[in-house]
Amino acid sequence: MKCINCDNEAMGKSMYCSASCRTVYNRNRKRNNVTAEISVTPAVTKSDVTDTEKTDITLTPEILARLPQGVVRPTGQPNEYTADMKAEPLAWAVSCGANWQSSPEYAEVIHRLLTLSVDELREQGMDIPVWKEHAA
Ligand SMILES: [Zn+2]
Repeated sequence: MKCINCDNEAMGKSMYCSASCRTVYNRNRKRNNVTAEISVTPAVTKSDVTDTEKTDITLTPEILARLPQGVVRPTGQPNEYTADMKAEPLAWAVSCGANWQSSPEYAEVIHRLLTLSVDELREQGMDIPVWKEHAA
C-alpha cells in the first residue's frame, strides 16, 4: 500500500510511510476541512487526531532506552515544527546550534533514528549512524 501523503511505500498496515508523513497529512487535512467541513464528516474526531500526533512526536523514556551507550542523550523534545523538517536542515541545526543537546532538532533526529527503519531513514536522506546500521 502506498503512503497517502507522498506515494512512497507505506509501513505494514499503516497508511503512511513515516510518522512525519502522518503529521503532515493530518495537518493538511485539518486545513482543508475548514473549507470542506460542510460536505465532509470526518470519521476521526479532531481531538483524536491531535492526541495521536502528540504521542507520536514525544521522545518517551521507553524510546530513549533504546539509545546505545556512548550516544549523547537529547535533553529536549521534538515538536510539531521539527517533525516536518527535512533531514538536511535538521542536521544543519544540530551541527551549528550552541545548545544542540537540548535542542528540539537533536531530539527529533534521535526520535527518528530510534523509531524509523534504516530504509525509511535513507528515504528521508538522514545520515545513518553505525549503531543504527548494526541494530537493523
Ligand atoms: Zn510518505
